[in-house]
Amino acid sequence: MDKKVSRIAVLTSGGDSPGMNAAIRAVVRTGNYYGLEVYGIMRGYQGLLEDDIYRMDNRSVANIIQRGGTILKTARCKEFRTPEGRKKAYDNLKARNIDGLVIIGGDGSFRGAVEFSREFDIACIGLAGTIDKDIQGTDFTIGFDTAVNTAVQAIDKIRDTMDAHDRIFIIEVMGRDAGYIALHSGIATGAENILIPEQKTDIEALVASLQEKERRKKLVNLIVVAEGDEFGGANEVARVIKERMPQAEARVAILGHIQRGGAPTCLDRLIASRMGYHAVECLIQGRRNVFVGIMNNKMNYVPLEKVGKKKGTINEEWMKIVKILAS
Ligand code: ADP
Repeated sequence: MDKKVSRIAVLTSGGDSPGMNAAIRAVVRTGNYYGLEVYGIMRGYQGLLEDDIYRMDNRSVANIIQRGGTILKTARCKEFRTPEGRKKAYDNLKARNIDGLVIIGGDGSFRGAVEFSREFDIACIGLAGTIDKDIQGTDFTIGFDTAVNTAVQAIDKIRDTMDAHDRIFIIEVMGRDAGYIALHSGIATGAENILIPEQKTDIEALVASLQEKERRKKLVNLIVVAEGDEFGGANEVARVIKERMPQAEARVAILGHIQRGGAPTCLDRLIASRMGYHAVECLIQGRRNVFVGIMNNKMNYVPLEKVGKKKGTINEEWMKIVKILAS
C-alpha cells in the first residue's frame, strides 16, 4: 500500500475481446464517482506514446456496455518495449498529472506494465481482457464467455447439416496456446473428440475411434480442434482422416474471428463491471501494480510481475467426460 492517486487513465491493449467496453465504462464511472479525473487512452500503449489521450466523463461511456470491441481501440506497440518509448509514455502522463493507469489486456500488456511501473512512479492495475482464458490468478477473463458461446452457436448450426449428411466435421476454434475455448465449446456441443495444445494429439487413436464408430454406424462425428493443437490444426487433421478413411466424408470449418466479436454475454459484462470497479478501488486505496482477477467468486489481487500465461492446466477429468459422453 502506498500513496493514493488523483488522476487516472484507462487503455485497452493487445488482442481485443468482447466486454472490454463494459470494463472501460466501469473504470470511468467508478473513477468519476470517487471524484477522480479520468482519461481514456486510444490504441493502447501506442496512443500513450503519441499523446492520444482524452478526458472521459460518464456520458462518454453511455450505451457501450452491450457493444463488442473497444471504443478506445487497441494496438500492439513495439516502441513501448524500449526504455525510450516508455519514457515518452511517462512524460505524456506526467504532463497531465496522471498517476494511475488501468491496463485491460493480456499477459503481454501486463509485462509492459511491469517494466513501466519499475521505471516510473505510476500505479498500474491490470485487468484480463482476452478470449483465451489463459491468464493466471483468475477464473474468468473478459471475453472468454462470449467467445465460447459464439463458438457453441456456430457449432450447433454446423451440427445440423453434419447430421443431415452423416459427415465427420472438424471445427477449428481459437486458442493458440490454450485449449479452453475448444474444451468448453466441445463439451457443450457434444464433440466426440477435442484436440488441444495442452495434450499431445494421438492421431492413430483418433482414427481408430472414428473407424470403431463407423462400424457401430455412428457416422456423425464432431471433432473440435484448437488452432494451437500441435498436430497442425483442422486442415491437417482432415488430411490424415481422409487418407486413412477415404470412404468417410470429412469437412473442415475454421470459425476464426467471429469468436472475437459480438455483444458480450451477461457473464462477461458482469465480470468486466466488477473488475473495472475494483481496479479503481485499488487505486484509491493506494494498491499499486496489481492484477485484479476473480477466483471462487472473490476478488483476487496478484502482483503484476507474478501474472503470466496459464499453461498446461487442463482438468484431466474433463477429457474423461468427453470420452464417456461421446460413446
Ligand atoms: P496481449 O496483451 O494480448 O498479450 P501482446 O503480447 O501483443 O498482447 O502485448 C501488447 C503490448 O504490450 C505489446 O505490443 C507491447 O507494446 C507491450 N509489451 C509486451 N511485452 C512487453 C515487454 N516485455 N516490455 C514492454 N512492453 C511489452
